[in-house]
Amino acid sequence: MLIDAHCDLLYQLWRHAYDVNQSNKLQFDLTKWRNSPVRIQAFAIFVPDDVPAYKQYDVALKMVELFYEKIIVPNPDIVSIKTKKDIENIADHQRGAILTLEGCHPIGRDLNKLKQLIDYGVRIVGLTWNNNNAIADSIDHPHGKGLSSFGHEVINLLNDEQIWTDVSHLSIKGFYDVIATAHDVMASHSNAFTVCPHRRNLDDQQIAALIKRDGWIGVTFVPYFTKVNEPVEIDDVMKQIDYFLKRGAREHLGFGSDFDGILTTIQNLETVEDYVNIVEALNKRYDKSTVKQITGENFIRKFPRIKV
Ligand SMILES: [Zn+2]
Repeated sequence: MLIDAHCDLLYQLWRHAYDVNQSNKLQFDLTKWRNSPVRIQAFAIFVPDDVPAYKQYDVALKMVELFYEKIIVPNPDIVSIKTKKDIENIADHQRGAILTLEGCHPIGRDLNKLKQLIDYGVRIVGLTWNNNNAIADSIDHPHGKGLSSFGHEVINLLNDEQIWTDVSHLSIKGFYDVIATAHDVMASHSNAFTVCPHRRNLDDQQIAALIKRDGWIGVTFVPYFTKVNEPVEIDDVMKQIDYFLKRGAREHLGFGSDFDGILTTIQNLETVEDYVNIVEALNKRYDKSTVKQITGENFIRKFPRIKV
């Protein structure tokens, strides 16, 4: 079962009048999804920072509405995933959709807003995007601060609610604060810094810390997080995976493509349909059980939400 932990379709649907069923402007639409091997897809609520602070939560709610009205309700073959049981119960003809939050800036300093988003089905919470917020600073700010006291309240809530804390985009200090306090840790879309030195990637110490905390890491298809120089090819994604495996991440690895969040793409990896090329490359390179782990088993095993 192939699972992808990050895409920005909801943002695109909010910003543009694209047809969710089929649009050549989208890297991920429902037709391409159905033609792809991806069985479960995470859909991020991502509110851009050009939205004034007082409007950000309304925009987040608008994206929740888009998730249900465009993706879940009209499509009986697509089910909303809220618990680990929901994943296990997916029928062969069905696909699963998980709601996630990329950056907590839309909640401001109001824990009830986060509670409400969890009630609406959000199961993975990225603490920051590239902007700093009331919870923590982002990786875009050198010497960024770690968790604030409000940030600690957020982690307590995520722990109580069995929600995954996502460290992609988070400052280094914030990362280690999360490692020390969150029950369930993941990096939804980040690659290895040693292979491609970009600040958004995980260094060896961070990879080791995630493994030690039984966390999960989604290899991402952002070309400039994958390899420094063009051209970037599927083989370069495999080199990222090779490196994570070498660091001991076999039971911790998966994918978080970032489709519809990227303007440039890796060669032969331009839309979700091209996941077929990733599966082919994986099967050529790794044994069956490793492929199974990376494509979905690791994600399912660690998916924290048990309670209904
Ligand atoms: Zn992102």
